Amino acid sequence: MAETKDRIDAKARSVAGGCQCGAVRYACEAVIHPSICHCRMCQKAVGNAFTPMATAEALVWTRGAPKRFRSSNAAQRGFCADCGTPMTYEADGGAVEIMICTLDEPDRFAPALQLARNSRVAWVDQLASLPTRSEAEQAAREPFYASILSYKHPDHDTTDWKHRS
Ligand SMILES: [Zn+2]
Ligand SMILES: [Zn+2]
Repeated sequence: MAETKDRIDAKARSVAGGCQCGAVRYACEAVIHPSICHCRMCQKAVGNAFTPMATAEALVWTRGAPKRFRSSNAAQRGFCADCGTPMTYEADGGAVEIMICTLDEPDRFAPALQLARNSRVAWVDQLASLPTRSEAEQAAREPFYASILSYKHPDHDTTDWKHRS
C-alpha cells in the first residue's frame, strides 16, 4: 500500500483505534471532551443504552474509511460497512466525534459529562450494581471461552491483518 502523507503522519499520532473487523483504522493527535450521550438518536445509532464519544483532533483514516449516513439535517454518522461498528458522529462543519470504545485504549478516556440526561433508559443507573457470575460459574465456562478464536482486530495497528468477510 502506498504511503500517503496522512499515513506517514499517522505514525506520529499518539491515539489510534478502529472497528471490530479491522477494515477501518484511524489515528489522531488527541482525544478531548469525552462524554456520554443518552439521546434517542444515539441509542438507535449504536444499538445501546448510551454513546461514549469524544472529539478526535486531527483525525486521519489510516486504513479504509467509514461509510456514513445522514442522521439529521445537522449531522452524519460513520460506521464500518463491513462489520457495522458505529464509529463517528460528525456535525456539519464541526469536529469529528469518535466512539470511545473503538479506541485501542478506551480506559484512557473516561467520560466527564452526560448529555441528554432526560433520555436515559430507565435502568441505566442500576448497571454498576448488577450481580455478576460467581467465580465457580465463570470457571465452568472457561473451557468454552478458551476454545473461541476471536476475529476481532487487535488493539494496535497491523500491516498484514487478514480481513474476513
Ligand atoms: Zn469493520
Ligand atoms: Zn446523542
